[in-house]
Amino acid sequence: MQYPIPNTCILTFDVEEWYHGAYPGYDYSMLNTDIVRVVPMMKSIVGILARNNATATFFVLGEVAQKHPEIVKMILDGGNEVASHGFHHLRAGILGEKGFADDLIHSKEILESISAKKINGFRAANFSISPQKTPWAFDTLKKLDFEYDSSIFPAIAYYGGSPKANRYIHNLAGIEEYPLSASSILGLRVAFSGGFYFRVMPKFFIWHGIKHYWKNNFPPVLYLHPKDIDSQTPSLPLGFIKNFTHKGLADKAFAKFEYFLKRCKFVSIEKWRAK
Ligand SMILES: [Zn+2]
Repeated sequence: MQYPIPNTCILTFDVEEWYHGAYPGYDYSMLNTDIVRVVPMMKSIVGILARNNATATFFVLGEVAQKHPEIVKMILDGGNEVASHGFHHLRAGILGEKGFADDLIHSKEILESISAKKINGFRAANFSISPQKTPWAFDTLKKLDFEYDSSIFPAIAYYGGSPKANRYIHNLAGIEEYPLSASSILGLRVAFSGGFYFRVMPKFFIWHGIKHYWKNNFPPVLYLHPKDIDSQTPSLPLGFIKNFTHKGLADKAFAKFEYFLKRCKFVSIEKWRAK
């Protein structure tokens, strides 16, 4: 299979519920966690990908896979890739080295038992690993036989990010790294490739970012959460600004996603690696 540049974009999703973003100021006991949005959204997402001959890598949270194993099957039936987003959506710095390994093992076991496939890829909750802050995380990934990671956010971000990190696909501490794509404007790194940034950035800015990667002969790596493109994402018990970060413009984002789906060749990391 050919994945020509320009044209190819790597598409990824973090498969979690609408409340897993973990913004400061609330805990799950304050929410109605009986509201399930991830299942109907995943049906829409795998459906639209199949209709457009596209694939994606889905970093599935272990907790979500355990509760809704049908999601994992849905993903695989569409020729997409299942990867790990950890088990409990806790940041690596909070888990610590041992807790991080246990959470990772737990998620890998759940996903491998449901999918009957080896899980090769990982993305940390809130992009919370980096060689500076959690150097042990990359050793743990290698020990557990992960082949690639997609946790580096090479721009300023809500939880820190790594604005000086390499923003192209590279080898990092012995593992293939697929950083989330970011633009550089007057020396300042600005994310365009997913989540909140995908929702609020104008289409021309996202296009500009995508074309920059193509010009440098790399596919951009895009990331979304089901809640980012869901017009029914529930609010959090927080003020307007935090709720805007949580779901602002999500009601318009599905159409925006479709706009880029029609203009790029979206592929999973698995397919890109196998080319
Ligand atoms: Zn997440």
